[in-house]
Amino acid sequence: MSRLIFLGTGDALNPERAQTSLAVPLPGDETMLIDASSGTVLLGRLADAGIPLESVRHLFVSHHHFDHIGGVAPLLTALAAVPEASVTVHAASETLHALRGFLELIIPGVEGWLGKRLGWHELVLGEPTEVGETKIIPFLMDHSLECMGFRIAQSESVAVLAVDTRPSQVVVERASGADLLVHDTYGPKSASERAHTMGHSTATEAGEAARAAGVRRLVLTHLRSSQFVDPKALVAEAEVAFGGEVDAAQDLATLHF
Ligand SMILES: [Zn+2]
Ligand SMILES: [Zn+2]
Repeated sequence: MSRLIFLGTGDALNPERAQTSLAVPLPGDETMLIDASSGTVLLGRLADAGIPLESVRHLFVSHHHFDHIGGVAPLLTALAAVPEASVTVHAASETLHALRGFLELIIPGVEGWLGKRLGWHELVLGEPTEVGETKIIPFLMDHSLECMGFRIAQSESVAVLAVDTRPSQVVVERASGADLLVHDTYGPKSASERAHTMGHSTATEAGEAARAAGVRRLVLTHLRSSQFVDPKALVAEAEVAFGGEVDAAQDLATLHF
């Protein structure tokens, strides 16, 4: 059985949760991250989760909105100071280009500080990337800019991460038969127009995707603050559409899949 640790589960403006980042432990005490939250929050969440900084060997980046790449500069700067650290950043072309340009702007020279210990890998849609025995297939979702979802297969287990997407047939296809679907949820069905305008999905749409894909379990993430949404109500709404087990993601929760 594989594990996934939620480091950040809030949307871009939620002060109650960290912004998006997930950790997947790899064999040999290595760690793969998906997205980097923002600021130094990622470093704090890694420490809180007991994940050593130098264990982070891979970072997959879904897209270049600030709530997903804001923590990359602090992460790379912190890793540069740890001699045994090395990391490969995986992203599709537009995201990779934007990220490197952004880093050059806000922390000039960081690539040189890490030298050969920093690798860049361009993801190609639908083509698997293998990290040891873990296979990651990136797929294009429906957001407001290039945004990848990831199908992560580890031994017999499959988790699909679809964070920052409108309802998408591609997500349904790529999540087919997965043990776990982690899906974007902006709000309830009544907020669908706003959700779609912002490039996101409703709880009902997350549930419908889970049902159509035939996954075992659904977890809702990228949640707005409690001022705007009640996670319990979103879970109840998604359960009706899915007809299966649904949870709301929590920062620092570990999930087995
Ligand atoms: Zn986004
Ligand atoms: Zn986001």
